[in-house]
Amino acid sequence: MNCIFCNIIKKEIPATIIKETDDIIVIKDINPKAPIHYLIIPKKHIDTVQDLTDEDQQLAGSMLLMAKQLHQDLDNGGFRLHINSGKDVGQIVPHLHIHFLAGSLPPIDL
Ligand code: AMP
Ligand code: ZN
Repeated sequence: MNCIFCNIIKKEIPATIIKETDDIIVIKDINPKAPIHYLIIPKKHIDTVQDLTDEDQQLAGSMLLMAKQLHQDLDNGGFRLHINSGKDVGQIVPHLHIHFLAGSLPPIDL
């Protein structure tokens, strides 16, 4: 399997790394959709939210807490998290990731 995010995690292709722990890497999105656009990526290859198991409970929680950490580091207002989970809803990279968007975002009506 040739996964672009696994290759970034293995440092086989370059990316701007914002933060890294044993379990998670945070990189800058190459095509930002907001003034600040990071991707919170688990180092374990998991395709989608639908593929998470009970074993991943701690990892899934750590991804959310990483967003809190990023916010603390930025000290820059609120932020938005977004997950595309499935090809049919626009997931392009089939390795689970949370989009972290910040910096003067207009509110959206969901
Ligand atoms: P998604 O549609 O949720 O799968 O989003 C994938 C995201 O990954 C997009 O916002 C892309 O701009 C981003 N992306 C793709 N390749 C790279 C890369 N090599 N480095 C950083 N971000 C990337
Ligand atoms: Zn992967």
